[in-house]
Amino acid sequence: MNPSHPRTTPTSRPLGAERVRRLPGGGLVGLLKAAGGDVVNLAAGTPGWPATPPELIKHAVHALHEGVNQYENPDGNALLREWIACSLPGRPDPATELTVTAGASEALAVALLAAVDPGDEVILLEPFYENFLSAVALAGGVPRFVPAQGPDWAPDPAALTAAFGPRTRAIVLNSPANPTGRLLTDEELDLIAEQCATWDVVAVSDEVYAPYVYDGARHRSAAEVPGLAERSIVLGSFSKSHSVSGWRLGYLRAAEPWTRLLRQVHIATTGGAAAPLQHAMAHAGPALHDGWDPAESMRTMRDHAVRALTEAGFSCSAPRGGIYVMAGIAGLTDEPSPRFARELAERTGVLVAPATPFFADPRHGDPYVRVAFNRPEATLLEAHRRLTGRP
Ligand code: PMP
Repeated sequence: MNPSHPRTTPTSRPLGAERVRRLPGGGLVGLLKAAGGDVVNLAAGTPGWPATPPELIKHAVHALHEGVNQYENPDGNALLREWIACSLPGRPDPATELTVTAGASEALAVALLAAVDPGDEVILLEPFYENFLSAVALAGGVPRFVPAQGPDWAPDPAALTAAFGPRTRAIVLNSPANPTGRLLTDEELDLIAEQCATWDVVAVSDEVYAPYVYDGARHRSAAEVPGLAERSIVLGSFSKSHSVSGWRLGYLRAAEPWTRLLRQVHIATTGGAAAPLQHAMAHAGPALHDGWDPAESMRTMRDHAVRALTEAGFSCSAPRGGIYVMAGIAGLTDEPSPRFARELAERTGVLVAPATPFFADPRHGDPYVRVAFNRPEATLLEAHRRLTGRP
């Protein structure tokens, strides 16, 4: 033993790094693991609808057999980046402004690791997708929450403005939102652009639900907002749009100086997304798009979900985007939502997600549950039958 390095006892410090201890508890993950048996599971966003296009599967199998099994350019398959660029407003340069990632989850972590130093503040709009909090924690950032009230969930402009300051390094946006399906308005985006410019803040804009916008509404990307485009990092994903959440394919869109930094972190973490799956998406994806309109059928699913919930006594309105309904339970119970969700699953066999993980103070989620409607019609009709007791 080196006398200058006396052995420390293994119990003298906690296991693992502080950043891991700061991760949220994984409320949803626990619930989903507990689900089983004859349950209509509307808790997770894992796609049950639309069906994974058979052409994608065919091309993926083909790519494996044809030898697309080694490292890909870490920036991403060139053809895939070309196609992604064509699908995005303002058509970014695929060579310098797009990076393919292992899902939007990697993109989110990479964006925050690239943008945030320990101690920097990161603004989150409540209610938020739980992983935003995790990514901020991994980067050592300090979350600063902007609260909002249901049923509209519009952030108060004064509170939003007040959240910005000299310590703010980033704001995370999510439109259409998980869990509410809300779209940020033009006024909100303009206000955010103004504040980001004032305080030199980067906007990490999670737009994974952009393909799902309903009733004539239009998705407006942060990359389209004057003043925000140059300082935004947009995240996209094929998980929900093409029902390949297990393929782990997403992307980062950012102006060239940011893309250079993002790619450095991307190489240091995953080093690239799965080559054969990128290849399959690049070769089969574009052809699907003749007549591919998942939003049209998803709107039908949304309407089934809203009808079932309303008839069962939940309070909710039809979201304008995304794949979730945030439903109020005050008319049904005095119980907090985790207990309500558990009892509902036992009583009806329908599993929904308690809204507690989507708030800084979980109690603010007690009056709500989140219901995913990216499911086959038959599943939603069965949920209707179980929740209302009517066929
Ligand atoms: N962002 C949001 C808002 C999400 O809801 C999800 C998936 N639930 C993700 C990112 C993660 O997407 P991916 O499967 O591409 O990692």
